[in-house]
Amino acid sequence: MTTSARQLHSSPFLPGIHPDRVLVPGSPGWDEARGAFNLLVDQRPVAIVMAADENDVRVTVRYARERGLRVSGQSTGHNAGPLGSLEDTIIVNVSGFKEVTIDADAHRVRVGAGVRWEEVVPRLSELGLAALHGSSPDVGIAGYSLGGGMGWLARKHGLQTNSVTAFEVVTADGHLIRTDQIHEPDLFWALRGGGGNYGIVTAIEFAVYPYAELYAGAYFFPFERVREVLHAWRELLPTLPDELMTWAAVLHFPPDPALPDELRGRSYTVVWGVHIGSEDEGRELMAPIRDLGPLMDTFAMVPPAELGDLAMDPRAPLPFRSSHDLLDGVTPQGIDALVDAIGPGSGANVALVQLRHMGGALARKTDTAGARATLPGEISLFSLGVPMDAEGEREVHRSLAAIQLATKRFKTGYYPNFVEEPADASAFYEPATWERLREIKSLYDPSDLFKANHAIPPAA
Ligand SMILES: Cc1cc2nc3c(=O)[nH]c(=O)nc-3n(C[C@H](O)[C@H](O)[C@H](O)COP(=O)(O)OP(=O)(O)OC[C@H]3O[C@@H](n4cnc5c(N)ncnc54)[C@H](O)[C@@H]3O)c2cc1C
Repeated sequence: MTTSARQLHSSPFLPGIHPDRVLVPGSPGWDEARGAFNLLVDQRPVAIVMAADENDVRVTVRYARERGLRVSGQSTGHNAGPLGSLEDTIIVNVSGFKEVTIDADAHRVRVGAGVRWEEVVPRLSELGLAALHGSSPDVGIAGYSLGGGMGWLARKHGLQTNSVTAFEVVTADGHLIRTDQIHEPDLFWALRGGGGNYGIVTAIEFAVYPYAELYAGAYFFPFERVREVLHAWRELLPTLPDELMTWAAVLHFPPDPALPDELRGRSYTVVWGVHIGSEDEGRELMAPIRDLGPLMDTFAMVPPAELGDLAMDPRAPLPFRSSHDLLDGVTPQGIDALVDAIGPGSGANVALVQLRHMGGALARKTDTAGARATLPGEISLFSLGVPMDAEGEREVHRSLAAIQLATKRFKTGYYPNFVEEPADASAFYEPATWERLREIKSLYDPSDLFKANHAIPPAA
């Protein structure tokens, strides 16, 4: 039997942690603390520890282990959907771990596990440095890095997880350890792609890259031109060097008064590009798309900070359902099938259908890589709908299913950070990687104390 929330509330538990930092159902701030980025996710853990320091984490881990509870690390709740039931779980919320230390000469950064990308990217940019963040400034560096991390520079520099140089982590025995290529290298390997299955991360160190400026921006086309734009985009991909990463999307902006006039309530087909190189080279590489005559062209030489919000991801939590697949060998017929599912006249109820060009360093395994060394496929597809009622739920569900059916024959795998629902994580890894992850789990967490968004059980 696990300890109920009531017993926790009334017992002198978690000694050493200030009671204000231990939230249980009914505590002031409970609903805010259990909130997730996806408003459809209803997190109901046994308790939430708003950890102030490593000692709070150690105390919680020991307490949970002794009582048969589980522990789950959370920094922002951006990927809370896959966790499933939390009825036997204490969430350790690390959002208070806000240290940021930048060694500009060494191109190294150290952050606390609660730091979001927006808290470090602008500071790096001022120093002429770029990090491997993704599309959303308020995603947490912790979950992003533990699961992989596919950002604008990924074709050149790979996944963020393989630029991590060290983690500090509280393991199942309640000790805080530092792990890197030399210290506890198996654990270091497993954390880089095996996510939150191995402990509660308190700090992360990673490499950043010396780019003072990049050529980046977006072309906005009318939504109605989606077919021709996506065909041109697909044809462009094989011609591109690793220095250029391009994404394409259909975007239906909500009628949100906070949005600028040209976006509010409008629909577009958008092609983005980020090029590590000169304006002339970038313009030439993107010419096949620009020659289609976009309505708006925002491309310019920009400091790395501008990449933070380039994708225009929503910042405020919202209710959403999503689907995701990695695709390979998409043919012109495949693009047509996708456009039939999402284009004008399809009736699709989706806010976003996004395709990211992969390949390059995302496909090259290095000797020093972690468990998530590469991602298979040429295109990452992510779709999202925002249902407001039961009928909207059904429409979004139908639309996402139609997108997956249209692209099914090109499916080659998953990127776990884009999987927003409970899933069988064995499908996310090569069989040998999965077995090694399970063996390392059995060494460091044999009783499966740590509950991650995508579960890796200990080897039998
Ligand atoms: C709007 C949006 C945009 C995104 N854009 C991108 C993108 O461009 N590229 C990309 O690769 N991904 C992207 N993602 C996916 C993102 O990488 C995942 O959602 C990621 O898990 C978020 O990490 P988090 O720490 O913010 O979220 P959380 O929900 O707090 O954490 C997710 C999981 O990470 C683990 N975890 C987090 N903190 C700790 C910790 N301290 N110790 C141990 N485990 C921990 C846990 O298993 C947790 O369940 C995006 C997601 C959203 C919602």
